[in-house]
Amino acid sequence: MKKALIIIDMLNDFVKDDAPLKVPGIEKIIRPIKREIEKAKKNNFPVIYLCDSHDPDDPEFRIYPPHAVKNTGGAKVIAELRPQGSDIIIKKISLSGFYNTKLKEVLDKMEIGGVIITGCITNICVYFTAFEATVRGYGVDVVEDAVAAIKKEDHDCAIRQMKEVLKANII
Ligand code: ZN
Repeated sequence: MKKALIIIDMLNDFVKDDAPLKVPGIEKIIRPIKREIEKAKKNNFPVIYLCDSHDPDDPEFRIYPPHAVKNTGGAKVIAELRPQGSDIIIKKISLSGFYNTKLKEVLDKMEIGGVIITGCITNICVYFTAFEATVRGYGVDVVEDAVAAIKKEDHDCAIRQMKEVLKANII
């Protein structure tokens, strides 16, 4: 089955030390994500970056501090994981990578049957994108050492939910 590697929100506003949505310890998932990129390229799987890109007055900022405002440095993928060549960047405005985006269209055009999910935040965008992929009939693999959350208990809970409720492959 042809799969796509999905890298969620590895943006300056989630990673840098003074970032508004800094995920503590997120640096440790950079190397595993690089490993997954290499694997994907070897398998000829496309690499898709799903990136928050908000208007300055986005209603989401009532819930979360302002972050990843479009056309700002904070909304850029971190330098260590900068997209290359044929990599695909899909901007999103919400917690699901499928909501008001062209993700499904892109996957279907490339005849992708499954997604390999990496990035942040495990219990938020990773979780809701995994859910939306599952209900649309895609296989879902979640790379456990390549996703991160703000709190360990939230990470563990989301991994368990994806495994037991969504029947995702936790790899
Ligand atoms: Zn956001």
